[in-house]
Amino acid sequence: MKIEIDLVSDTATLPTPEMREAIAKASVGDEQRGEDPSTRELCAMVANLLGKEAAVFLPSGVMCNQIAIATLCRPGDEILADVTAHIVEPEGGAAILNNVTVRTIAGVRGIYTAEQVESGIRPVDNRSPKTQLLVIEQTTNRGGGAIWSMDNIEAVTSVARRHGIASHMDGARLINAVVQSGVPAKFFSQYVDSVWIDLSKGLGAPVGAVLAGSESYIKHCWFWKHRLGGAMRQSGILAAAGIYALQNHVDRLIDDHNNARALAKLIKAIPGIRLAWDDIETNLVFFDVENTGYTAKDISERLLTHGVRVGVVSEYGMRAVTHLGIKTSDIKNTGIALAEACA
Ligand SMILES: *Cc1c(COP(=O)(O)O)cnc(C)c1O
Repeated sequence: MKIEIDLVSDTATLPTPEMREAIAKASVGDEQRGEDPSTRELCAMVANLLGKEAAVFLPSGVMCNQIAIATLCRPGDEILADVTAHIVEPEGGAAILNNVTVRTIAGVRGIYTAEQVESGIRPVDNRSPKTQLLVIEQTTNRGGGAIWSMDNIEAVTSVARRHGIASHMDGARLINAVVQSGVPAKFFSQYVDSVWIDLSKGLGAPVGAVLAGSESYIKHCWFWKHRLGGAMRQSGILAAAGIYALQNHVDRLIDDHNNARALAKLIKAIPGIRLAWDDIETNLVFFDVENTGYTAKDISERLLTHGVRVGVVSEYGMRAVTHLGIKTSDIKNTGIALAEACA
């Protein structure tokens, strides 16, 4: 069955014809030698956007998190992160490659408080791992696209700083938070030592993420980029797509948020379905199908017969993600298909 409406993730976005044109015209060189002009341009753009001195282009968001952990922690250190954080679960236990442990905080929708950070920090003694890195996910993925406020970011990172702990922002969907809140990206990122954005989610590029921080931090990150096999050659082919995305696909993210809200409204009206959170802040809609009498897998299979794909996140939990490949008319059709799948 052909998938006509793919809500499984905002990674389902395909490069547009205009983006492909930008890719075709990209000027390129050897990235590893610092000679790729398009990659250099992209990194300068993102460093400026995030208010940092420097940035480095990487193949994926997972590699950004991995390199941040490797650079900011030492073996035996511990990371503090929300229990739903991407680095905790769907990255194969990201900390393991660096012999680092993770202590989780039970926040609300992926967002925790300064008090929780305070009580999560280990005492400094010979028996405890050293709490070394705080991770903030903006927006929260498993928290349903919730946005961290600037005040809260300031509060949690100032506790960390007081204890000599570095802060890292997993900004896979930071730009969604920017567009929705009207707060410039650099305001959110000003409190963290390390921050990255994903180009291959809602921004719609095929590959890539950009990690930013101080000049010396990014210099150190380059060792890890190389060591992990993330140093590229004519990466301008990919960077051009990222530049195009940042120039053309940012403002339109608001359409995704409006579509997500419209979809949530339709979902809420279907008997047996419960939204995980009524308040849809950005582009992620989580819902529970237990009272339909079907499992999430059943519903997903039934939806596929209508050409609609929605993610299964647990036995009864599902996730629908809006993105540039989803039109407003797709939302109405998804609502109809989902009502039929639940009947
Ligand atoms: C998708 C995602 C990642 C990983 O990004 P990739 O580019 O897919 O490797 C990390 N963190 C969050 C919150 C994500 O949603």
